Amino acid sequence: MIAEHIKRVEENILKACIKSGRDPREVTLIAVSKTKPVEMIGQVYDNGIREFGENKVQEILMKQPLLPKDINWHMIGHLQTNKVKQVLPYASLIHSVDSVKLAACIDREAKKAGLTASVLLEVNVARETSKYGFYLEELEEALEIVKDFSGIQVKGFMTIAPFVTNSEENREIFRKLHQFYVDIKAKNIDNVNMSVLSMGMTGDYSVAIEEGATMIRVGTGIFGAR
Ligand SMILES: *Cc1c(COP(=O)(O)O)cnc(C)c1O
Repeated sequence: MIAEHIKRVEENILKACIKSGRDPREVTLIAVSKTKPVEMIGQVYDNGIREFGENKVQEILMKQPLLPKDINWHMIGHLQTNKVKQVLPYASLIHSVDSVKLAACIDREAKKAGLTASVLLEVNVARETSKYGFYLEELEEALEIVKDFSGIQVKGFMTIAPFVTNSEENREIFRKLHQFYVDIKAKNIDNVNMSVLSMGMTGDYSVAIEEGATMIRVGTGIFGAR
């Protein structure tokens, strides 16, 4: 069943790339394994997936030692400053930097640990009150501050689009963030290396890819319902 799911997602990635004239190698699939047991994650791993996303620090800490070491763990959920230190050694990319305060904390802890943390700034494009993240118009000012944090490197942006029944409704959201990503990339800001645009989930990843996503985060579409 899991193998079938992965195959279907990979086919859809290919279709969206063909439709939009993109190279499928530009799109990384992250399997969102939150709430799922390590046995299931192992099955997904056996089908060739090496990128896994979790939204809780405790889950990464619990699962990481039980699974192969070549897995890249993506922290995709809201991160509290008091958990930064614990998760840093295990998170290959933190997608959910939603405040300058959190960025400053990651910077501090990364320097203490002697590493550089790769991060994305989370953007609340649709301005939903229920969601975390910067508003688009706050991003440039945030980048101006964060660019001086030598313990982190900003690799791009992440967004969680609204829950919709027709994924076309999110196309404009993805397009907006992609345009902003391209604009920032062109500015070549120090310490900001725009190469990742994390957008699209089970319900809308095809549209997200068509609009320029380089990472998609798929949970239900691989693991089934939570
Ligand atoms: C849960 C989650 C996903 C995956 O959602 P699905 O709809 O199950 O694909 C993606 N991104 C984030 C930030 C999540 O929390």
